[in-house]
Amino acid sequence: MTEFRELIPYESCPLCGGSRIEPTVRADCSAHPAFAEPLSRTMEWMRCADCGHVLRNGFYTPEAFEILFRSSLAGQRVGEDYERQRNIAAAMIERILPLRKTGIWLDVGFGNASLLLTAAEFGFAPVGFDLRQRNVDALRALGIQALKADITEATLNPKASVISMCDVLEHTRFPIPVLQAAHRNLLPGGALLLSMPNLDSPLWKMLDRDGINPYWSEMEHFHNFSRASIHRLLESCGFSPVRYGISERYRACMEIVASRGTNGGGVPRDPEKPA
Ligand SMILES: [Zn+2]
Repeated sequence: MTEFRELIPYESCPLCGGSRIEPTVRADCSAHPAFAEPLSRTMEWMRCADCGHVLRNGFYTPEAFEILFRSSLAGQRVGEDYERQRNIAAAMIERILPLRKTGIWLDVGFGNASLLLTAAEFGFAPVGFDLRQRNVDALRALGIQALKADITEATLNPKASVISMCDVLEHTRFPIPVLQAAHRNLLPGGALLLSMPNLDSPLWKMLDRDGINPYWSEMEHFHNFSRASIHRLLESCGFSPVRYGISERYRACMEIVASRGTNGGGVPRDPEKPA
């Protein structure tokens, strides 16, 4: 019987490749809804001494991910709270309209699908990727194209006009291949919509001061971005950030609109692959 192994440590910073990663925050995650034995009751966060990126000390092994995924299976259901969510989704879509008004809208990790359902209403051709088959089936039943797919392995033909990844990038082990895949699957000049917590926001700092910041014990996140760090990352992957906004979906979150460059994008080395 082999010992249970929870995390595979990051050997270098997944954003800049730097190897000086130092401990910064330790948090108790035993009250998290997805917590289950034999997962560790504490989470360790690290900071890259080279670029300042804040990340977990590792990503889950398949065995640990299986436990976490099982516990969080309930998740969001397609169409849940849609009448209220439709207002929030419409505001997000209106921020995209100055860049793109038609074409394929790919939403990665569509969750309750409120963004895609509303994008259809605005005249986009919606396509959803999600890892949960139940959600894929539920969205198809509403007449919307849905696939159980991972964007890093997908090739859209024709390419998308808009790609949205709301509260997705901080859940990925390696964000660069995900942004590279978004670049590959977007038309030149296409729009990318991202949302995620912002650790540089005054609200985040106030939550820290009061000892109630939920993100240090968020077991499903591997990264904490700032406005500056996500902008740098986008630029290095061939996107130009065009708009900063705050997200109405989750606490202390930001919403970034970026445009895909017309060139191939100065795509950096994939840190997941050997040099
Ligand atoms: Zn770094």
